Amino acid sequence: MTASTQVAIVGAGPAGLLLSHLLALRGIDSIVVENRSRAYCEARQRAGLLEAGTTELLRGVGLGQRMDAEGLEHGGIYLQFAGERHHLDFKDLTGGRWVTIYAQTEIVKDLIQARLAAGAQLEFEVSDTEVADLDQDRPLLRYTDAAGTRHEVRCEAIAGCDGFHGICRDSMPPGLVQVAERGYPYSWLGILATVPPSTDELIYARHEDGFALHTMRTRQVSRLYLQVSADEDIERWPDDRIWAELRHRLGVPGWQLKDGPITEKAITPMRSFVASPMRYRRLFLAGDAAHIVPPTGAKGLNLAMADVTVLATALTSLLRDGDPAPADAYSDASLRRVWRATHFSWWMTSMLHVDPGPDRFGPELQLAQLRYVTSSRAAATTLAENYTGYYPLHWP
Ligand SMILES: Cc1cc2nc3c(=O)[nH]c(=O)nc-3n(C[C@H](O)[C@H](O)[C@H](O)COP(=O)(O)OP(=O)(O)OC[C@H]3O[C@@H](n4cnc5c(N)ncnc54)[C@H](O)[C@@H]3O)c2cc1C
Repeated sequence: MTASTQVAIVGAGPAGLLLSHLLALRGIDSIVVENRSRAYCEARQRAGLLEAGTTELLRGVGLGQRMDAEGLEHGGIYLQFAGERHHLDFKDLTGGRWVTIYAQTEIVKDLIQARLAAGAQLEFEVSDTEVADLDQDRPLLRYTDAAGTRHEVRCEAIAGCDGFHGICRDSMPPGLVQVAERGYPYSWLGILATVPPSTDELIYARHEDGFALHTMRTRQVSRLYLQVSADEDIERWPDDRIWAELRHRLGVPGWQLKDGPITEKAITPMRSFVASPMRYRRLFLAGDAAHIVPPTGAKGLNLAMADVTVLATALTSLLRDGDPAPADAYSDASLRRVWRATHFSWWMTSMLHVDPGPDRFGPELQLAQLRYVTSSRAAATTLAENYTGYYPLHWP
């Protein structure tokens, strides 16, 4: 089957779905192909924290209704170390900025519903996705649909929003893409538990036995993480052991961690990865397809949504107005934001996690930095400014 559209989007994660929505607002047609099922995309547990600019964008493009009703606005975080818990007040430090807890699963549900209601072409459970003719002005997307029919879609641009393991980045010409990356010698064991959060705002804890984080998804569902070794086996972590370790690392006098049924647990490796450039002719990469940050700074989802906001404007200029300048600037503009977030995520990660090994130098530097961040307004403001989103999002 042969068809044509203006933009072919690979991947129905937050980046691909939001791009399709933003392009539609500008009158640009697209198709989104996704190799997982709709149910899988809507249930995949990942991010849950939105920068102020991301929530404002979602509201501004008609996607804020459920987020406003169900999201939890947070004006700060707690930083914990050496048995002390300190509050950082973002609103005070940044002149009123905040973050919102609203799960990625819910954003994906809102986006899929909005796209389908608008009659968008959204193909789930595709296989053998390929992009071709990338050196031409009208490249090609090929895929096999859920019923087994092979399709060819001629388009004017392709957006690779297919995540870290997608095919678009590797489809760029050999030697073009440069990768900068950093591995970390630990992973996160994350759980989702049906129990009201034991805290009003996130607790980031540096404990000598490893990092722990108490976050949440809703007023009834808690999300918690433990630093574990990079090659940890989840089978070694029965529920009782997880709760005991969380209590140990997050505990401070006078505070209690409520536990409840664990509905999901998984181990996530930690990685920083940036591929550049994010464009080859009419193929544009966005989100995790081009970059990964460790989740400590809560930036991955926000970066993915920022990329496609810039990309939607660039594609509108290119395809509707015939102006290539914003598309030419897309990669550099996105990479500036990406590297700021990459630095912040690396810094938060390095400050809060315990490196394996007997060296005392690293731990003492971490404690010195944590004491500085919790006692100097200038240092606290640096954290608050980056956490709530340093670069503003423009969606004219
Ligand atoms: C445990 C965890 C916690 C996190 N916490 C946070 C947080 O608090 N805040 C934050 O901002 N970020 C967080 N992140 C990161 C965030 O989830 C990602 O950055 C975000 O999902 C990126 O969106 P994306 O659309 O670029 O990629 P993805 O969500 O990965 O979407 C890519 C899509 O492409 C599809 N695909 C792949 N290959 C193909 C193919 N060949 N053909 C068709 N489709 C394909 C995939 O199935 C997927 O649906 C976290 C991540 C993890 C793992």
